[in-house]
Amino acid sequence: MDLTAPTVTGTRLPDSLCTHTPKCPTAASPDREAAHVMAAHPEQGWSLLCNGLVLFEDTGELLPDGRVIAPHRPLVATA
Ligand SMILES: [Zn+2]
Repeated sequence: MDLTAPTVTGTRLPDSLCTHTPKCPTAASPDREAAHVMAAHPEQGWSLLCNGLVLFEDTGELLPDGRVIAPHRPLVATA
């Protein structure tokens, strides 16, 4: 049986939209979430970062290559 990674069909995002100096961490970097938000869609629960990462409200992530990273930390109030 063939197990294929989930892929995103439709819109193909560029690997990086980053125009910042210095460059933001790439989507392959452990610091990927530190990249700037290019498009926020709080009503849909996700944001697009300039390195092509889609960051979901629950801390799940969708990488530009279509890989999915499961939510990895609870959303807690910082107060
Ligand atoms: Zn950037």
